Amino acid sequence: MPRTLDPNLRRALTDRVRYYNELGIYDFYRHPVAADLQDAQTNVARVPSPTAVAVREKQNLSAITNLESPRADPASSLRLIREDLGDCTRCRLHKQGRKQIVFGVGNPNADLMFIGEAPGADEDEQGEPFVGRAGQLLNNMIKAMGIRREDVYIANIIKCRPPGNRTPERDECETCSPFLMRQIEAIHPKAIVALGAVAAKTLLAINAPMSELRGRWYDFRGTKLAVTYHPAFLLRDPRQKKEAWKDLQMVMKELGLQAAAKSPE
Ligand code: URA
Repeated sequence: MPRTLDPNLRRALTDRVRYYNELGIYDFYRHPVAADLQDAQTNVARVPSPTAVAVREKQNLSAITNLESPRADPASSLRLIREDLGDCTRCRLHKQGRKQIVFGVGNPNADLMFIGEAPGADEDEQGEPFVGRAGQLLNNMIKAMGIRREDVYIANIIKCRPPGNRTPERDECETCSPFLMRQIEAIHPKAIVALGAVAAKTLLAINAPMSELRGRWYDFRGTKLAVTYHPAFLLRDPRQKKEAWKDLQMVMKELGLQAAAKSPE
């Protein structure tokens, strides 16, 4: 029996689909509901129990709230985004040796978000961004800012490890980054730090050397965004840590953070 959609839900869905289209997202997936499947298979008209109706209403209400304002409940919004991502096969990386999708980690209500390039071998193994050597340095940088890794949210431009840790291709970034855009929208941080050239250039759509990109604020869809060196680069050229620390101090000033006793090593 065809069901009509609640007009408020229909309006919210239309607005949301238009919004995602503007971000470049066109593919949507429905998760079948067990009861619906059973109805379709047995072709039996079922009268739902009052409890089932109440549960369904509550789910619809939370779906509407989430669609209208993903910021209202960042943790639920992040769960929805992860569900939408599924066992992603949208780009070639799914068949080029990735072990798992590395979605993002941290506080859904974070004031500060760090965005790197792509998972490496350790991240691919553990399913969490920045857990290898570069991650250890990022942890030290965060600690030096007077906060903890659990206080911030950490993600990457792409969510699957490129073979041999090669730089992500432009089409891979374009396919994957809409999910990152949704994560940013849900978390709605006060500031974003782009780690390295790939993150900076993808987010800002500017093709400039790091020396020109650093040292100033950008407006990223209404959120302040700063650029600093990628921790992996700092491991190769530790002399640049002083410069990275200046970038982080700019961010700390904006967020009212006090440096921990010691600067990053
Ligand atoms: N480098 C990145 O850009 N991201 C990670 O998660 C790890 C290393």
